[in-house]
Amino acid sequence: MRSKIVAGNWKMNNDLAGTETLITALKEEIQKPTVEVMIAPAFTNLYSAFEALKDSAIEVIAQNMHFAENGAYTGEVSATMLKSVGVKTVILGHSERRAYFAETDETLAKKVKTVLENDMRTIFCFGEELEDRKADKYFDVVESQIKNALFDLDAEAWKSIVLAYEPVWAIGTGETASPEQAQEVHAFVRKVIADKYGDEVAQGVSILYGGSVKPGNAVEIFSKEDVDGGLIGGAALNAGDFKAIVEAL
Ligand code: 13P
Repeated sequence: MRSKIVAGNWKMNNDLAGTETLITALKEEIQKPTVEVMIAPAFTNLYSAFEALKDSAIEVIAQNMHFAENGAYTGEVSATMLKSVGVKTVILGHSERRAYFAETDETLAKKVKTVLENDMRTIFCFGEELEDRKADKYFDVVESQIKNALFDLDAEAWKSIVLAYEPVWAIGTGETASPEQAQEVHAFVRKVIADKYGDEVAQGVSILYGGSVKPGNAVEIFSKEDVDGGLIGGAALNAGDFKAIVEAL
């Protein structure tokens, strides 16, 4: 059985006080979830988030990480640093990282390798832009994103990989992929993985959907066979909405 996961990507939102307030509300709302629940606050708030969620079922995860262990990389954060505050899971390859911070399949392959060497797991994001969708090139785009960053891994490594399909045109736009559009890509990606690694690996990988998931559309999206949960942006900043999405899964 694949893990079912709802992860909140807080992006660059909430200072220390805001993080504490939202976590207090989340602890109240989400007490005994039947699925894995994660939140990804900003780096500066990870430590306090861990302290606040010590006895909770909510896992604190990171939004990004550098591939090097340490060194002259001003402004970056390493796996060791993340582990030292308790992080076990790191989001990699978010489209905002790709678009605004020049992350490529090549750097992402290095980051994934570092995550695995450090016994952490990753939520690896991929997804096409609007032009790719309009030009009917979305299968090619997502296939190359997955292959370029992840297909050097051995089969065992896939136990530490969660995928998140986030079509760029659906992020923060209010325009969600339809449940059928999400299912189509998720099933396609599972087949790409099965062709390379076999059915057992492909069937074991959780594939989350992200892009304007809200309480009102979550049930329908999560009902699809190959959708194993969600990576939530805007709606993760409201405890009541996030709880409703967790309950939808
Ligand atoms: P929204 O839910 O705000 O569209 O963001 C999705 C996302 O980018 C999660 O990583």
